[in-house]
Amino acid sequence: LFVSSRTENLLDTTTATSEVGWTSYPTSGWDEVSVLDDKKRLIRTFEVCNVNKPNQNNWLRTKFVERRGALRAHVRIKFSVRDCSSMRNVASTCKETFTLYYYEADSNSATLYSPAWRETPWQKVDTIAADESFSKVDNGGKVVKVNSKVRSFGPLAKRGFYLAFQDSGACISLIAIQVFFYKCPEVVQNFALFPTTFSGGEGTSLMEARGVCLANAEEVGGPVKLYCNGEGEWMVPIGRCGCQAGYNPTGDKSTCRACPVGTFKLHTGDSSCLSCPAQTRTTREGSTVCECQSGYYRAVSDPPDSPCTTTPSAPRDLSYDIIGPSILLKWRLPRDLGGRSDILFNIICKTCSARGCARCGEGVQFEPRQVGLEQPRVQVSSLVARVLYTFEVQAVNQVSEQSPFSPRFAAINVSSSHSVPSAVPIMHQVSRTVNSITLSWPQPDQPNGIILDYQLRYFDKSEAEEESFTLTSETNMATIPNLSPGRIYAFQVRARTEEGYGPYGGKMYFQTLIEGQRSEASHDHLPLIVGSILGALAFLVIVAVIIFAIMFKSKRRETPYTDRLQRYISSRGDQSPGLGVKYYIDPSTYEDPNEAIKEFTKEIDCAFVKIEEVIGAGEFGEVCRGRLKPPGKREFTVAIKTLKSGYTEPQRRGFLSEASIMGQFDHPNVIRLEGVVTKSRPVMILTEYMENGSLDSFLRQNEGQFSMIQLVGMLRGIGAGMKYLSDMNYVHRDLAARNILVNSNLVCKVSDFGLSRFLEDTASNPTYTGALGGKIPIRWTAPEAIQYRKFTSSSDVWSYGIVMWEVMSYGERPYWDMSNQDVINAIEQDYRLPPPPECPTTLHQLMLDCWLKDRTLRPKFDQIVSTLDKIIRNPAGLKTVGSSSSRPTQPLLSNSPPDFSTLSTVHEWLDALKMGRYKENFDTAEMTTFELVSRMTLEDIQDVGVMLAGHQKKILNSIQLMRVHLDQLDAIEV
Ligand code: AMP
Repeated sequence: LFVSSRTENLLDTTTATSEVGWTSYPTSGWDEVSVLDDKKRLIRTFEVCNVNKPNQNNWLRTKFVERRGALRAHVRIKFSVRDCSSMRNVASTCKETFTLYYYEADSNSATLYSPAWRETPWQKVDTIAADESFSKVDNGGKVVKVNSKVRSFGPLAKRGFYLAFQDSGACISLIAIQVFFYKCPEVVQNFALFPTTFSGGEGTSLMEARGVCLANAEEVGGPVKLYCNGEGEWMVPIGRCGCQAGYNPTGDKSTCRACPVGTFKLHTGDSSCLSCPAQTRTTREGSTVCECQSGYYRAVSDPPDSPCTTTPSAPRDLSYDIIGPSILLKWRLPRDLGGRSDILFNIICKTCSARGCARCGEGVQFEPRQVGLEQPRVQVSSLVARVLYTFEVQAVNQVSEQSPFSPRFAAINVSSSHSVPSAVPIMHQVSRTVNSITLSWPQPDQPNGIILDYQLRYFDKSEAEEESFTLTSETNMATIPNLSPGRIYAFQVRARTEEGYGPYGGKMYFQTLIEGQRSEASHDHLPLIVGSILGALAFLVIVAVIIFAIMFKSKRRETPYTDRLQRYISSRGDQSPGLGVKYYIDPSTYEDPNEAIKEFTKEIDCAFVKIEEVIGAGEFGEVCRGRLKPPGKREFTVAIKTLKSGYTEPQRRGFLSEASIMGQFDHPNVIRLEGVVTKSRPVMILTEYMENGSLDSFLRQNEGQFSMIQLVGMLRGIGAGMKYLSDMNYVHRDLAARNILVNSNLVCKVSDFGLSRFLEDTASNPTYTGALGGKIPIRWTAPEAIQYRKFTSSSDVWSYGIVMWEVMSYGERPYWDMSNQDVINAIEQDYRLPPPPECPTTLHQLMLDCWLKDRTLRPKFDQIVSTLDKIIRNPAGLKTVGSSSSRPTQPLLSNSPPDFSTLSTVHEWLDALKMGRYKENFDTAEMTTFELVSRMTLEDIQDVGVMLAGHQKKILNSIQLMRVHLDQLDAIEV
């Protein structure tokens, strides 16, 4: 603690070398006298000694004393007083005391008359008496007894003050007067600097001083304070400063010095720098932590002063035991744990074949779990029979994530010989009500035995998966009761044989009906209504409406009035809500198309829409992926179709008509409209986002990747969407794989409800061929629609058959590169597309049914859906794939064209075509093999001598089919 002087003088008569010059009143009173002190120095004193006269009142006033910030002044007075009794000739009024006063003033303004020479304007400090008076006389001289008294006063506020000494008849000598004040001097304490602080105005005051931390020190726990008392002494320390992290106190505890390289100090305080822990280092002075050496890490939970650690080495001695239908993998701890104790193991399961390795599906099960195993063992079950599995056991610890290298592992191959059933590939909703869902599913691809039963697991999608329920069914269909209305549930099913349970299939989501929505198993609720009189009345009304609806529906079926009826319904906007039957309303029947937009779409504020990326080109502008954040709801991804700027009003209407059509639909297999933005630019249509884009390109990109059941599942979805649309009386007119969108769950949805391309002749797309002022996608369109624009749900069924063919051939172009005119001719002559490679016969038969010339004989969409459901329930039927012997008809035709696979010579072919008369012509031209014939052009045919146009056409058409046949043979040979 460094202490400088605690006092500071304001006035000191002992240092005066000439006259002090204080004012005395009256002049007969106090007198300034120079005397020699005991050390023979000349000092200035003030004396008064009018003891022999009564009524003395003598004042002595100092000069103006500047306060200089002092709040309390102290006066030290050295004086002597003579004893009244030791003097002769003294009046009875002789005194032995005097009185001290002070007077505050802002300037040196005193005069001979002011302040007045009486008590009132002055502040009395004290009446001062001597302890000793000098009464004795020794060696013939006076012995002066000097008194020293200190008095103080305050608080002071003005610029300065005067002091006054009042004598009332004593014999006094003021030998020395010192006026001073106390201050606490600047000090460094606890690594903080406190400034000089003056003592307070009262003797007991404590004056607060804030400390400032020294360089590289900081406050520990709040402000740092000291208090200065009335005597200039520091006291009551509060708070403290400590050396910052990275700095430690020097030996004298007055400064903070940086930690040397190789050491660190973590916290503020008086502790010293420590050496870096293992596998760490510092590169500069003043480090607060030591960083890890390369290849070593600290886990998030490791304290910063801990040593650094690394990843473990590989597990050792990996082996397995077979336990019933499962295997138990086990291993020993790695040799090197990396300096940690928190080791865990993850299992990676792969199936390997000659073509490479792939991760095992969700099916394989791990007990207790697949990742984060604490013990060096895991039980693996639900392995598919006769598959070579590779298991990798990774050793990881809490620093593995930080290492750029993948965890070290041990691997083992296991060939499974036991045989639980494989996973159930897909599930379908058969029906649903407000509180139940009926599902069906096919057998697993590899039952590996007799299926005893199925276990269905389900849970509310919005709740934890752990809250799941199970249900056992002996058939591959089950009704799940006791569900809540309008909620989405996740379902999984697995099959059981004597060997045990197979793996669960992937989760599929189905939703119960919302309360008030028409039950899709509509008969369920009718008996409930017949409960009360009201109920009975309602029942009657409903029966009447049902009868009306049935009559109405049967009329709708392909009578010449269909179109007119549809228009009649449309313009009335009839929705028969009691029955839940709803018909589509053609927005072009609205006088003001904006009314249709208002009625069927939801306007979205463009502030809620964020465009992220262009994903395609639409007819009217770009198609983008974006995000929609409706107020109070979670943000989600949407597809955004934009209308390019510079559009005309008819273009805007055409663009938005798609939204007013889409907005009327609500089905899981029909693309859902989220809303439109029409109040700002660009005008946008927002729909649900379909991650896998359009079906045709999706299939082409994934050729051969799907199981038959998955393909049928897609077809079933498209069929269900089309059934819904046809029930709504909506005719699509452009059903094709390019207009089906696929989401990440492989769910297919019907899209593209644009009206415009059929009305205008704008696009230069060759898929849409103009005729009679409109454009028609020839390859997908039924002959009656091409010939006389008879577009009906039955013509949509034809297109559906083409979509089936596109799906089963993974996006092949229907009729390959035949010209549109050749396609029309071929169809007219009863040619039909052959089954795509590996296409099950049942599916090709369904296609052929869709392509029946008589549209009334084609299946309806509900029949198509139930046929597909049957196929899915019994996938064994998919096993029969057409071959040349089992194929019911010829490859590309349903009756007249020949089957090339049964023909071996050109003569046989001409006979089959009923063109045998030209055998000689072909022989002469040396056209004797299919190879040569297949390259003939119309000119070649004419050159050979076929002159009748009808015959030329017939032969030419058949040659085209011959080419297809030969191409297929080539493909098989390769
Ligand atoms: P369209 O104008 O409907 O033919 O759309 C053009 C392209 O944009 C399509 O072929 C798709 O690739 C893409 N697309 C359209 N709608 C969506 C959607 N809802 N989700 C994802 N992609 C879409």
